[in-house]
Amino acid sequence: MSIFEKIIQKEIPANIVFEDDLCLAFTDISPKAPVHILIIPKTPIPTAADLKPEHASLMGHLMIKATEIAKEQGLAEHGYRLVINCKDHGGQEVYHLHIHLLGGKKLYGLPV
Ligand code: AMP
Repeated sequence: MSIFEKIIQKEIPANIVFEDDLCLAFTDISPKAPVHILIIPKTPIPTAADLKPEHASLMGHLMIKATEIAKEQGLAEHGYRLVINCKDHGGQEVYHLHIHLLGGKKLYGLPV
């Protein structure tokens, strides 16, 4: 079981900012920007490379929630970055698909 599944199961703590039947959002333990939130599906899809057409609705839901959370966090006016790292060359460390929401300052380069 990945560390994110343990967070979903509430076996380890996280600062949860949003939760519904399909997804969970919580602050990154090692923030790379003033706002750094991870949005994850509750179903354990390991990587973006594992996505299938039947995940289209779920991924749409995650993207919409990411933008709603960005607005709640006060990021909508100046903007933000949404990132999905995929496998080793993409810099993925946790093999449970997640969207990084980063903002609160002007971002240069590749923060995550
Ligand atoms: P990635 O490199 O795209 O797989 O991103 C994984 C992210 O998960 C990193 O930004 C980590 O800081 C973050 N992370 C790892 N463990 C935890 C945890 N227990 N709670 C919150 N964030 C975590």
